Amino acid sequence: MKRLDALIVGAGFAGLRALYRLRGMGLDVRVIEVSDGIGGVWYHNGYPGARCDVESFDYSYSFSSELEQEWRWSERYATQPEILRYINHVADRFDLRRDIFLNTRMESADYDEAAAEWEVRTADGDVFRVRYLLLCMGQLSAPKAPNFDGQDDFEGEIIHSAVWPKHDVTFEGKRVGIIGTGSSGMQMTPVIAKAAKHLTVFQRTPNFSVPAANAPVSDEEDAKVKATYAARRQQALNSPTGLGFKPNRQSALDVDDAEREKVYEAAYHRLGFGFALSYHDILLSKPANDTAAEFLRRKIVERIEDPKVRAKLVPSDHAFAARRPSVDSGYFEAFNRDNVTLADIREHPIEAFEPAGLRTSEKLHELDMVIFATGFDAFTGALLKPDIRGRDGQLLRDKWAAGPITHLGVGTQGFPNLMIVVGPGSPSLLSNVMVSIEEQTDWFADLIEKANADGIVEIEVDAKAEQAWVAHVNERAQETLYMTAASYYNGAEVAGKPRVFMPYSGGIRNYRRILESCAKEGYSGFTLRRAPAAAKDRVET
Ligand code: NAP
Repeated sequence: MKRLDALIVGAGFAGLRALYRLRGMGLDVRVIEVSDGIGGVWYHNGYPGARCDVESFDYSYSFSSELEQEWRWSERYATQPEILRYINHVADRFDLRRDIFLNTRMESADYDEAAAEWEVRTADGDVFRVRYLLLCMGQLSAPKAPNFDGQDDFEGEIIHSAVWPKHDVTFEGKRVGIIGTGSSGMQMTPVIAKAAKHLTVFQRTPNFSVPAANAPVSDEEDAKVKATYAARRQQALNSPTGLGFKPNRQSALDVDDAEREKVYEAAYHRLGFGFALSYHDILLSKPANDTAAEFLRRKIVERIEDPKVRAKLVPSDHAFAARRPSVDSGYFEAFNRDNVTLADIREHPIEAFEPAGLRTSEKLHELDMVIFATGFDAFTGALLKPDIRGRDGQLLRDKWAAGPITHLGVGTQGFPNLMIVVGPGSPSLLSNVMVSIEEQTDWFADLIEKANADGIVEIEVDAKAEQAWVAHVNERAQETLYMTAASYYNGAEVAGKPRVFMPYSGGIRNYRRILESCAKEGYSGFTLRRAPAAAKDRVET
């Protein structure tokens, strides 16, 4: 049994950041990580073409200006290998590895009410007793895969994009199928199309996408950003989503067509994901959204030669960005190649695997390899896998059976001293997640510092506060178009999952102000105790 001040679960961007900060406070802290390497999703999503769709300068830690100055990004949108190199560089530069246990899966965590401690058990039988348990387990880290009839009889290879093998995967001479056209499927399509003998993309829902406008980072741009990095970070902190450029505060409906076209054209060629911020109301008003969606549909049409294929690829069943759009590098153009076929599985659903390939209601697609780019059980998938038991042995998965209930996305009543980093109910995937990670880990660290200074041993969310927060998260979501589409933002990605809005859509800046005022008010919505509630009860009875 190992006794610690804090245990962090997950060695991705969040876990490393939490380790750096908590260790810096002199706490005895460790990280456990189920994989055999650090990096979280960036360790596993090694599929061809994987890259970040937030600009590298913004998708990076801000806690060390030395790190900011010395690291040299090679491209505006970094590839997965470059991001993984960055993560490993950070781990080495700040000597983080010595406190990380790899190949260590948290199987259960039980709250000991009398001691105000968590007892964490790993799959190998190791036990940790800790005051604080920080869950840094990711929002898109529990891959989900279909289970078609006949899958085991398929004679080719099946790979999931989010569990990409560490060995070289070759496509030369192969007939490859990709199922799924979210960001992962759209990113890998043009790369695999160039290498494979034939590529079939199985599409259920056509997705909006904006070109990445990727480019090498010139020495001049690198120097320019580094000279004004602090201002860029401030801008990100004060923006709705944590991206490093100024959003337009105008309404898309307050300008004439020519002006709007000019703004969209410029954003389309330079801003990638930030296209959605061209006007402030793109995600708030359907008529405003229609202007952006119509512009993007025109652009998609221009990129595809065959009118029949084009008609299938143009998204029409949801508002732009109500589902997560992609930022692509040649996705639509890939369908102009002779060796790429689009299989519309809404029209002709997949029926089963056969030894030679995938049978749809139309025909057998003969394949040597099938890639599942079918996404994740988002937001709650990883958090609810282990048995996390709070007061009275209540399982977190039972408490959240009808959807996650949190105060500020950071904790939940009945599970004291449990801290969720970038959890449901926080801006999470509606933000540049790096900004959210740093903000929340620092907020937790300040809270722990205060608790230690004041002799606090138990920190617990109040039931009323979490009810009010869940209601607020829902109210904010209702102001947007997010609930008008079925997506992983609202639980539609997994059959039977509660259909509730998961992230907080009120924006990074608002959220930061809420966190700050919570702290200023002595952590309103939380009860901070000098003795465990259970121990007090015992004394009183
Ligand atoms: P995703 O967006 O959830 O897309 C999954 C795709 O698989 C969808 O097209 C879905 O169709 C399809 N699908 C799922 N189950 C299926 C089934 N049983 N049969 C047929 N089709 C099925 O997943 P993702 O592409 O992995 O991306 C997830 C998120 O990860 C992204 O939105 C993004 O936040 C993040 N990501 C980021 C980057 C980046 O930074 N550039 C790259 C990759 C991923 P339906 O839509 O019809 O359900």
